Amino acid sequence: MNKCDCCKRQMHRVDTDGLCLVCLGIHSFTAVIKERTELNANDSLDLAIDLMEKLQSAILEWLVDERGLSTEFVADIGRGMVRQSQH
Ligand SMILES: [Zn+2]
Repeated sequence: MNKCDCCKRQMHRVDTDGLCLVCLGIHSFTAVIKERTELNANDSLDLAIDLMEKLQSAILEWLVDERGLSTEFVADIGRGMVRQSQH
């Protein structure tokens, strides 16, 4: 197990910056919100957390419906993505 540098939770995986997927998402959302809106850093972070929680609950709901992670589910998430992961 790894410890996320941001939320300090024990996670199965963190990225090269030491962030878990949820914190990575929140950091990414915050950066985009700050860049594209007039919101200050705190409000951007609050909005990013709200958005990430909605995404988390949707993903969890779908995973429960599918009884686990399937390659079809992963393929659907990636479908239509313009930019692919660099990793
Ligand atoms: Zn984290």
